[in-house]
Amino acid sequence: MFISQEVINQHLSKPIFGTLSEAADELGLETYLIGGFVRDIFLYRKSNDIDVVTVGSGIKLAKLVAKKLGKNVRVTVFKNFGTAQIKYKQYELEFVGARKESYSRESRKPTVEDGTIEDDQNRRDFTINALALCLNKDRFAQLVDPFGGIQDMEDLTIKTPLDPDITFSDDPLRMMRAIRFATQLGFDIFPDTFDAIERNKERIKIISKERIVDELNKIMLSPKPSVGFVLLDKTGLLDIIFPELVELKGAETKDGVGHKDNFYHTLTVLDNISKTTNKLWLRWAALLHDIGKPATKRWEPKHGWTFHNHDFIGMKMIPKIFRRMKLPMNDKMKYVQKMVSLHMRPMQLVEEEVTDSAVRRLLFDAGDDIDELMQLCEADITSKNPHKVRRFLQNFKIVRSKLKEIEEKDRVRNFEPPIDGNEIMQLFNLGQTPMVGRLKSAIKDAILDGVIPNEYEAAHQFLLKKAEELGVKPASLESDKDNK
Ligand code: ATP
Repeated sequence: MFISQEVINQHLSKPIFGTLSEAADELGLETYLIGGFVRDIFLYRKSNDIDVVTVGSGIKLAKLVAKKLGKNVRVTVFKNFGTAQIKYKQYELEFVGARKESYSRESRKPTVEDGTIEDDQNRRDFTINALALCLNKDRFAQLVDPFGGIQDMEDLTIKTPLDPDITFSDDPLRMMRAIRFATQLGFDIFPDTFDAIERNKERIKIISKERIVDELNKIMLSPKPSVGFVLLDKTGLLDIIFPELVELKGAETKDGVGHKDNFYHTLTVLDNISKTTNKLWLRWAALLHDIGKPATKRWEPKHGWTFHNHDFIGMKMIPKIFRRMKLPMNDKMKYVQKMVSLHMRPMQLVEEEVTDSAVRRLLFDAGDDIDELMQLCEADITSKNPHKVRRFLQNFKIVRSKLKEIEEKDRVRNFEPPIDGNEIMQLFNLGQTPMVGRLKSAIKDAILDGVIPNEYEAAHQFLLKKAEELGVKPASLESDKDNK
């Protein structure tokens, strides 16, 4: 064992465990700490979610613990599940009676009956999650490890305690959990366990999208998310839950000209961005930045492989993906769309020539997300050629300094044109007609193109001139003055 009993004792010396122990003994209930909390002691991960399992009523135990902790400590009882929860200081304590579970094929909801601690450990998903530490005074801090969970932690292995085919068929969410733990902890999946995921992959279809995406987001937030996506792909789960990503796979060659494998490129971009941000939605943007490539792939004899408009098509694909996966259809999705649609722009800026007007337009389109867009573009550099990498990074440095210069000069990020639609309607006595939008866009374009400064008076003069050109007459000079 790579952690001493002393370290365990030290963990359990906190007063909260003394209180749990006292309450369990007073009620004469065999009681244990179990699951993730115990696992995390051995992995040196800090956790305040404490799962307590008792051979008897978890609710009764929770009530006595709450009483001992103080007057204001409340127990939330979930009668249907026979569980109870206490929130106390930084801790979230879950109490449950030890149970035995049996499953039917149609659902992941088992039939439950009271059981022993062994029964309860049998129903756990992985050996490392089945460890228990006794809380009763006479065996305090004694470890119960029936499936060699400690050894598996030393071997960095995810393994099911029982026959993996039964474990995964009973509750197919465990397949996602296996891959998620492997990704979060940097563990390998034991070969038997891995093969069983492959065999049972179709069972994932009985799991709700919300639960799947919950696990996927935990993979996304891991230090190296590519590990999870490679495992999802190798087991065949990815094809079922996220076929658009599988479409990115493969590198075709024609007339000796190849293109990169966009699946592995995408995963490298995702790992790259994960080194610089914990923001989930920026990581999602990295995962989806090239999602439009398969649909736009063409062979053009003069240019080789091209993916014209993949940024636009990718942006368009996102709502369907988000809806199907039950990801939020709100500003988070809009943000991902925006990042995907703009991810080629900084590079194009460099390739053409960095004009003030192009920089202004990018600032206007990206708004406050400009820095994260640049972060994405830098993560998108996955060339193995160090000269190319250096050149790209240098180019982006130029774009960044240009962005800063223009922003300081023109403040176009988040700018609203100084004359709005209402004012245009009043000035020219117009209803809600397309002409209002046309005049408004003309002002915006003139500012972004540097024809006029971002100021009211200049915009007003420009508007009058533009309207005259288009044959639109001001309502009257009087109302013109009132509106200033
Ligand atoms: P995390 O907190 O990172 O999500 P965890 O394992 O610590 O992971 P929970 O998902 O709350 O936290 O699970 C607590 C414990 O319950 C697990 O350690 C495991 O013993 C058990 N468990 C959870 N889900 C399942 C499942 N689907 N099948 C079997 N056991 C499970």
